[in-house]
Amino acid sequence: MSENWNKATKMVHGGTRRSQYNEVSEAIFLTQGFVYETAEQAEARFIDTGPDEFIYARYGNPTVAMFEDRIALLEGAEDAFATASGMAAVNGALCAQLKAGDHIVSAKALFGSCLYILENVLANFGVEVTLVDGTDLDQWRAAVRPDTKAVFFESMSNPTLEVIDIAAVAEIAHGVGATVVVDNVFSTPVFSNAIAQGADVVIYSATKHIDGQGRALGGVVLGTKDFIRGTLEPYMKHTGGSLSPFNAWVLLKGLETISLRVNAQAESALKIATALDGHAALARTIYPGLPGHAQNALVQRQLGGKGGTVLSLDLIGGKEAAFKFLNAMTIPVISNNLGDAKSIATHPATTTHQRLPEDQKVELGITPGLVRFSVGLEDADDLIADLQQALKAAQS
Ligand SMILES: *Cc1c(COP(=O)(O)O)cnc(C)c1O
Repeated sequence: MSENWNKATKMVHGGTRRSQYNEVSEAIFLTQGFVYETAEQAEARFIDTGPDEFIYARYGNPTVAMFEDRIALLEGAEDAFATASGMAAVNGALCAQLKAGDHIVSAKALFGSCLYILENVLANFGVEVTLVDGTDLDQWRAAVRPDTKAVFFESMSNPTLEVIDIAAVAEIAHGVGATVVVDNVFSTPVFSNAIAQGADVVIYSATKHIDGQGRALGGVVLGTKDFIRGTLEPYMKHTGGSLSPFNAWVLLKGLETISLRVNAQAESALKIATALDGHAALARTIYPGLPGHAQNALVQRQLGGKGGTVLSLDLIGGKEAAFKFLNAMTIPVISNNLGDAKSIATHPATTTHQRLPEDQKVELGITPGLVRFSVGLEDADDLIADLQQALKAAQS
């Protein structure tokens, strides 16, 4: 029955489990373990085919299970496994299914730590990695091979906001039997229907919009029951990347308001991008919801026209202008999270993407003047006025 609810109802009621007290707000089960009535019951629970009940919090916990069930319902996935952070989710989703000698194809426009997992962790363990321009379907076609086990991409890339066609890449990948793994953070579980569009495995850093108030780290991997319980869970439960019950509770409550928050943020983002587009201080205003964005037609198809909650502004005058701009803002904070109630401005070239060699930054469009702007829940007109005065300061 809950599968038939619309998303907003799923976000509030999905996955609820009540204790004997019938609490309204979900309980936090801050416990690592669970008591067995008898030695026989303990024995039965440790058998793989035994009752699917809780054993140890590294394997599962009631509060964590509520979060997993709610987000799985929302995403339309059969199952989910919650992780300690978004990176634990990316690492788990890839390492659990790949081994030495396998081949993976990935889009190259990636969050720095995702690139580290591909280029360092996986490559060091003998997985062959091919990087492509994710927006160019011919490059995906040329890169996949019969031994390609998985493809990986951010459906909307950080920080240059390229949008990748999930259905088209999935068709190419499935043609060689590869698993499609999508890091879906920027698309958010509210705007995305990645599984329906062909993704096999979907990953979120719950640290971003799912918490939405900058309090907790967390992540989640979604997919078929077979993948989540058969492939991912054994890897996660033995390597220790599970989510804490307290953070699961924070994220569970975050899901109750995520639709209201990200819709308001996306609406403000479009308003701000429209107001700033063409400003004399800017070389480029990048927002997937703008009609002029290179993949705007895909945004209409894949995300119901929602361009997300982040925009990137490329200032004329490079790092000096970008720093003046950042320092002149009075409402947004300079930090590196996104999806937060507070607007957050980031200079990727010197922070989140500092580690990348210069030529790679150039190739990915991470220019010295680029500022990533995560739109919060402040009044959009206040933000526009503040950004306009900061752009003026950047020109001086
Ligand atoms: C933030 C982020 C991650 C990592 O998430 P953490 O919760 O910080 O570990 C992975 N992918 C993308 C696209 C992100 O924005």
